[in-house]
Amino acid sequence: MTSHLTAYIALVCTSGVLNAYLLFRVLKRRYLYEDIARFFIAYSIATTIYCFGSAFGLMATSLEAVKFWTVIQYVGMPFAPPLGLLFIMKYLGQRITKAKVVAFLAIPSITLIMVITNPLHHLYYRVFEIDPLLGMPYVHQEIGIWYMVHGVFIFSCMFVAFFLVVSQWRETSGVYRMQLFSLMWSQLVPMLTAFLYLIGLTPPGIDLVPMVLWVVTLLFLWAINTSELFKIIPVAKDTIFHSIDDGVVVLDQTSRVVEFNEAFSHMFLSFSGPVYGKTIDEVWLELCKERFPLKSGTQLFTWSGRADFDLTERTFQVRVSSLRQKEEGMKGTLIIIRDITEMNRLHEKLEHQAYYDELTQVYNRRAFFEKCEELLANMNPKRHNFSVVLFDIDHFKSVNDMHGHHAGDEALVHVAQICKSVLDEDMLFARYGGEEFVCAMVGKTELEAGAVADKLRLAVESQPFTVNDNEIPVTLSGGVTTIELAGEVDIKDLSQLLNKADAALYEAKRNGRNQISSSAGQIDVRQISNRSAGNLV
Ligand code: GH3
Ligand code: MG
Ligand code: MG
Repeated sequence: MTSHLTAYIALVCTSGVLNAYLLFRVLKRRYLYEDIARFFIAYSIATTIYCFGSAFGLMATSLEAVKFWTVIQYVGMPFAPPLGLLFIMKYLGQRITKAKVVAFLAIPSITLIMVITNPLHHLYYRVFEIDPLLGMPYVHQEIGIWYMVHGVFIFSCMFVAFFLVVSQWRETSGVYRMQLFSLMWSQLVPMLTAFLYLIGLTPPGIDLVPMVLWVVTLLFLWAINTSELFKIIPVAKDTIFHSIDDGVVVLDQTSRVVEFNEAFSHMFLSFSGPVYGKTIDEVWLELCKERFPLKSGTQLFTWSGRADFDLTERTFQVRVSSLRQKEEGMKGTLIIIRDITEMNRLHEKLEHQAYYDELTQVYNRRAFFEKCEELLANMNPKRHNFSVVLFDIDHFKSVNDMHGHHAGDEALVHVAQICKSVLDEDMLFARYGGEEFVCAMVGKTELEAGAVADKLRLAVESQPFTVNDNEIPVTLSGGVTTIELAGEVDIKDLSQLLNKADAALYEAKRNGRNQISSSAGQIDVRQISNRSAGNLV
């Protein structure tokens, strides 16, 4: 055995033993690891078989023995690159389905069958013999078609795996880069060695790859020891961390910032200088000109802050939670900041839509009932008058019929505007439905409420509505009713009151329209308001 051969065997054995050690370590602690370790275990098994197959091949003394150990090598070698790729995909947070695993392992399985059955078809090796010049255990081989398929496949796997790792480099923070570094070289070392072999720069008849795999194994051991390669999925978690829309800041036990995500830096672009290592108070003072307002514990509240991506005041909701570990007590603080400005705007818009009539922009019927209930609930417990007036536009159908529906709409807006300008702010005014409006007043007698209603009627009568330069007279009829309240009033009383007002309105219509009637019937509101509206309102 030449000294060269002894060195080769020693190197391959080193790779094999180191790989077996790595495999043993990961297997022993696999319950502590996330399930990426499964692919890594499979990858290490394949690599270990490959290394030992290669080592025993180099120690073989007959062609038959060389062939046997070659088959053993192929039980591991073709599977290692796709398993390595699957491991890296999983490490980067991709979803690995069973179908993907089967697809990735199809070509290696065929390769293994091809190698076992090669004497029958010679599709893998056209020639496989002991090198006539170098002798045992060097092999002279001429490759067949499937060898090329296998070669392209394993190169592609390593190249894709390498490319995937490189593409993560920029987005990965410092502490995890050493993991990426070892993953990158785990692909690059065998790829470069195999490439050198292909272009004839390595000793003839010898596969150098298993001789350099110990370098890869040491890199993996280093990554496991220094940055817990399998305990967490750093890059996948990093990607999730940076892809969420909420700003996230992690503080250590002394309230210093140890991590923050991209959403946080986008929320506060104005922040100058490094954030890492500063206390949250220092950061907050620079961002919001105030100290960080939260104590430890989970809290939820809002305040207004300013983000530089737009200069409007924005509202942020901040949630602070303690990061604890079971045995070790308090470990740090997690701050999650959500920009709820848009949500608030949407909420306000929906609330507006729920309470305001879209056409006239006065309260709708639903708001009228709710506000009335509030009004009644907050009324002074001593005796009080409570009045409601129902208004209905006279002959409104003919406005629609003669001038069109659009003109009818404009007439409704016109009337609502007059009413709003005439009525006091503390009077509750709403569109009751169709061309009917309603007004509720507190503290007025039926006579006084009738006078207010008549003032409104007069205002509408005296301001005709114009459409296409045509003046269209619009008049209102109204029905007033008042009750004297004492103690609690419930919604049934309100409905009864409105029914009475409706009956009075019907009276006003029956009596010729453009007038106000009261439920008492005997009061001629029109006469009273003509006489003394000025004094009453
Ligand atoms: P009266 O003096 O007896 O109240 O006569 P009127 O024509 O006003 O009576 P009626 O209540 O039968 O007609 C109301 C009309 O108001 C019918 C409906 O088409 C119209 N209307 C209801 N809501 C709207 C609306 O939002 N826009 C328009 N343009 N018309 C509406
Ligand atoms: Mg009507
Ligand atoms: Mg009407």
